[in-house]
Amino acid sequence: MSPVASPVIVVIEDDPAIRLFLRKGLGAHGFKVFEAELGRQGIVEASIRKPDLIILDLGLPDMEGVAVIKAIREWSAMPIIILSARSAEQHKIEALDAGADDYLTKPFGLGELLARIRVEMRHSVSSPEQDQSGIFMTGAMKVDLLKRQVVVGDRDVHLTPIQYRLLSVLIKNAGKVLTHQYILKEVWGPSYRDNSHYLRIYMSQLRQKLETDPTQPQYLLTESGVGYRLKV
Ligand code: CA
Repeated sequence: MSPVASPVIVVIEDDPAIRLFLRKGLGAHGFKVFEAELGRQGIVEASIRKPDLIILDLGLPDMEGVAVIKAIREWSAMPIIILSARSAEQHKIEALDAGADDYLTKPFGLGELLARIRVEMRHSVSSPEQDQSGIFMTGAMKVDLLKRQVVVGDRDVHLTPIQYRLLSVLIKNAGKVLTHQYILKEVWGPSYRDNSHYLRIYMSQLRQKLETDPTQPQYLLTESGVGYRLKV
């Protein structure tokens, strides 16, 4: 395929108004959009279109969105962004655990969706750790991953090894939502999956050190009931 070909997105959504919104909005930004209104049809579209990304509604008439994710994950690691209703935290967590990469809560704006798509597409090509400079920057925060140096504005920040590991897991997945369980497993290990109080304590410490106002975080964002996201 030519490298200048339009990126392809498969939208799996039973609501025609949302499909129309996505088709028009994404089409206007240079994406080629294929649509499916049922989960089964979506799995087929995902396999024949070989999309760069999938947008999947969790509430489909024929099957659970989570089952669609599991089916696709059997043969592909393509990015999947899920759409879900507000207050469906448990469904979002299940979908992320099943292999979805991110979610948007309805109603959402096109700008927000495009930002998530950019994050996913960048991740599927390279991660910040593979960046040759090894420097991660967001706002006034700058992290040198090779030297393990953290600077906010003109201030050097000293982190403990666990605080640094927590920050580096977030940086590796910058812009993406990470569930509490995922972060616990990555930072502390698989047997700490249920120790979410560890995470709360260390996240609070990290905010104290990195945020101008830890009660109004600019970088280390809370995704209510689900996990955390590092702003990019
Ligand atoms: Ca639906």
